Amino acid sequence: MKTIDDLGDLRGKRVLVRSDLNVPLDGTTITDDGRIRASVPTIKRLADAGAKVVVVAHLGRPKGAPEEKYSLRPVVTRMSQLLGRDVAFATDTVGDSARAVVAGLADGDVAILENIRFNAGETSKDDAVRGAFADQLAALADVFVSDGFGVVHRKQASVYDVAQRLPHAAGGLVLTEVEVLKKLTVDVQRPYAVVLGGSKVSDKLGVIDNLLGKADRILIGGGMVFTFLAAQGYEVGKSLLEADQIDVVKGYLTRAVELGVEVVLPVDVVAATAFSAEAEHAVYAADAIPADRLGLDIGPKSANLFAEKLADTKTVFWNGPMGVFELEPYSHGTRALAQALIDSKAFTVVGGGDSAAAVRLLGFDEAAFGHISTGGGASLEYLEGKTLPGIAVLES
Ligand code: ADP
Ligand code: MG
Repeated sequence: MKTIDDLGDLRGKRVLVRSDLNVPLDGTTITDDGRIRASVPTIKRLADAGAKVVVVAHLGRPKGAPEEKYSLRPVVTRMSQLLGRDVAFATDTVGDSARAVVAGLADGDVAILENIRFNAGETSKDDAVRGAFADQLAALADVFVSDGFGVVHRKQASVYDVAQRLPHAAGGLVLTEVEVLKKLTVDVQRPYAVVLGGSKVSDKLGVIDNLLGKADRILIGGGMVFTFLAAQGYEVGKSLLEADQIDVVKGYLTRAVELGVEVVLPVDVVAATAFSAEAEHAVYAADAIPADRLGLDIGPKSANLFAEKLADTKTVFWNGPMGVFELEPYSHGTRALAQALIDSKAFTVVGGGDSAAAVRLLGFDEAAFGHISTGGGASLEYLEGKTLPGIAVLES
């Protein structure tokens, strides 16, 4: 994969950068600027090299037409603060405003174009429609840098098609993420444990499937664990259960035995009378969950067991909270797991939007982890063994 260094002297060159600036907003207030901060180093580096930097990004899911609530304007303000310099803003994607803003850039200046998904060409399934839009984007620049890791699994105009039209390179964020993913799939330091949680088994079947052949241990918690417990024949009460996946899960358990992979399930769970912080709740053995209760967290014995199973590891990939961490009574399993990652001497990777949010919400220092991924969907698709179009095109 080519890097920014391979693009040569960028002074005076117009560089189109695809970043992931899809931050959560409350009105026009950014509630978590993590993705903007993660995008700053590449933009700054290009500006410092004297390039005319033209950033494209999306926000939310507009339907191919402008919608004020999805405007990137609040992001421009924040980016400008983080870069410590003015950032120009084009009020359209490839129209008069974009052309004028790009034409007005001096060496080292930065501009952001309006939400790229305001143009239906960005996400069109029709190659010709996407291609025509990519032509217009490519006309705004001399080279392309792909740095939006969160979108590299998308075959979209500003991710995939534009890279076919301009000399291109991977930005620092994409390079880092891909290096980390390689450490989880090809150059793995062992013992290697994968911890999976979150709400649904069906979201993560592909990852379990692919990592069963790579990990030494798989630890399961969160809402998905009840489908595993049900597959063992246990009563799971009113807990989250995907009955149609029980057979698939049984298949994984059998394959794990064949492959010599250790699957670690909780031995106790915190089960409540209702999905609420105020509901009556208590710890039960995993094979004794009352029929009228729902499991909302792993229990303390499980947390200790999971910590033991991580203590001697060299690599840990964690995706999916151990419980409903958003509610304090059910946050302890996730907290204990995060601490166990930190206490292990392993290279630790946190993937998944909610898992990363949990780490921050529970007050952990992000720097205590080896890597916190910026792209949940992209990481998962890579770990499923799929080809990511936005990476494949950079390698071509
Ligand atoms: P990520 O975004 O890290 O991949 P997911 O989106 O798969 O994680 O799952 C996160 C959600 O799973 C959280 O909102 C959390 O409340 C929920 N969750 C965790 N454990 C349970 C449980 N036992 N029952 C219901 N929901 C759960
Ligand atoms: Mg999620």
